Amino acid sequence: MKVECKDLERVLREQEPAELAALESHAKECAACRAEMEEWNELSVAARTLQRREEAPWLWTKIQARLKEEARKEQERGPRRSFAWLWQGFAAHWQMAAATVALLALTVTSAWMLTQRTAPGPVTPPANAGLKPLSFNPFNSLLTG
Ligand SMILES: [Zn+2]
Repeated sequence: MKVECKDLERVLREQEPAELAALESHAKECAACRAEMEEWNELSVAARTLQRREEAPWLWTKIQARLKEEARKEQERGPRRSFAWLWQGFAAHWQMAAATVALLALTVTSAWMLTQRTAPGPVTPPANAGLKPLSFNPFNSLLTG
């Protein structure tokens, strides 16, 4: 099995194991194909990640593991607070934060509904509640001509 530069796209598209193996050995000698393959691999990983969006817990575990690893590296380098450190803190508490926000929203909504209920209500008075019909209604003359 011999694979050349011109075969690269087709081999990546067709995903034939034997051809992929041949392409890999070709890429060892060919920088252009190596770069192409690396790019393609990144894209396929991204595509797989998108496909597995519904498997968010799995993805989240991966991200957390990665972040922990980053934080550990950061700590080895020094106690400097980094973005990774902040992000890890957020990752650990995001569920709590989300719950707090939800609770707050619920509280505000209920409070608003309560004020709506106890408020005097619509300003339209009950029918004929001591109100005399207007003796002069400019619209009457307009309507009756
Ligand atoms: Zn090549």
